Amino acid sequence: MLTQAPKGTQDMLPKDAHRWHAIEKAMRDVCALAGYREIRTPMFEHTELFQRGVGDTTDVVQKEMYTFFDKGNRSITLKPEGTAGVVRAFIESHMYADPLPAKMYYCAAPNFRYEKPQSGRLRQFHQNGVEVFGAKDASTDAEVIRLAMDVLNRCGIDGLKLSVNSIGCPVCRKAYNEKLRAYLEPKLPGLCETCRDRFQRNPMRILDCKEDAAKLTDAPSMLENLCPECAEHFEKLQAYLSALGLNYEIDPRIVRGLDYYTKTVFEIITDTANGPLTVCGGGRYDGLVEELGGPATPGIGFGMGVERMIMVQDSQGVAPEAPLLYDAFVVTMGDDARREGLKLVYELRNAGVKADMDHAARSMKAQFKYADKVGAKKVIVMAGDELLGGVVKLRDMEHSTEEIVPRGEIVGKIKG
Ligand code: ATP
Ligand code: MG
Repeated sequence: MLTQAPKGTQDMLPKDAHRWHAIEKAMRDVCALAGYREIRTPMFEHTELFQRGVGDTTDVVQKEMYTFFDKGNRSITLKPEGTAGVVRAFIESHMYADPLPAKMYYCAAPNFRYEKPQSGRLRQFHQNGVEVFGAKDASTDAEVIRLAMDVLNRCGIDGLKLSVNSIGCPVCRKAYNEKLRAYLEPKLPGLCETCRDRFQRNPMRILDCKEDAAKLTDAPSMLENLCPECAEHFEKLQAYLSALGLNYEIDPRIVRGLDYYTKTVFEIITDTANGPLTVCGGGRYDGLVEELGGPATPGIGFGMGVERMIMVQDSQGVAPEAPLLYDAFVVTMGDDARREGLKLVYELRNAGVKADMDHAARSMKAQFKYADKVGAKKVIVMAGDELLGGVVKLRDMEHSTEEIVPRGEIVGKIKG
């Protein structure tokens, strides 16, 4: 127990840090080019925010939240997704009074869901995401989708399939839900228990059910029942996606697990050795800001699973290589030399050279062995004779060559 992480959690180990950093950098670079700035919201919020924001009928709220009472007897929830907290911050800090659109992103933000742990499904996972407020034109939807694709591409991920759909607005969805209920009603006894529960409150989600979807292929389609405004928005989105050179597929089955979506929803899926994996999902949420107490403001965003990106990189063999730990390793012998060595290590570091020395009083032979193991390209020897002569011995570990270098020139030489 003591040395076992809780179920569904993973450590990011030092050997993998460069992979996370590369993914975060890709996200930051792509976002900066498009005028997005970072936002960080708390890891926990009042439970009510998610109940209202994500939606009471969703799996996330009904089954997956980490909710507890704090010592002040407030109901607190570890954030299961990124959007609700950002919307809360947008309203609380009056960002709606700033020039809109307000474009923001988050990077490897922790999310918590009490799910059944399995491949690609963790209880603490991390998301890159963006949220845009105050832009209702479908050109924003296209920008957001392109941004997600760019981040994934920069991370070397290939074979991405983009699926888009429109789930309409409260007006057309209401009429559509009536049609859908009429279609579903006679089939209800044959559907799973979860779907029977969803029938009244959220019938569209039934079409998304992994168990039942196959039985419902002839259900009326939301796309054929969009109101003129939503239909035009979806038409425009497609034109913009084409203008940006993005291939996409219209998938009328995408409903998404969170209640707040309106109009555009999308998923980016990739194939792995274990089958298709959704790495990114998002959509428009034009009613959410108002629902949470702010002025009516359209919104759109996505969430991208960092652990899933890492899985895909592994499966596609495109993980970035680990950077070298040290450019130079200083080998010393004796206390005087160690003191001089320490000075040299800091001169090297100050000059931007990754450097270290032995701190464990190892023999010279063991120090060389260690330098080799950690992949240092150069070893600088500072021992009795060298110290007395004001020189160091520089060994090139790749070419197994050695030369004597004046102490005053060694830093410049290594840097050059
Ligand atoms: P799924 O259908 O896979 O359950 P979802 O609709 O619940 O996905 P979102 O809420 O849209 O997922 O989250 C966005 C992204 O976050 C997903 O596409 C995925 O990459 C990642 N993600 C979601 N849940 C998990 C999890 N439990 N573990 C790891 N990554 C996750
Ligand atoms: Mg889920």
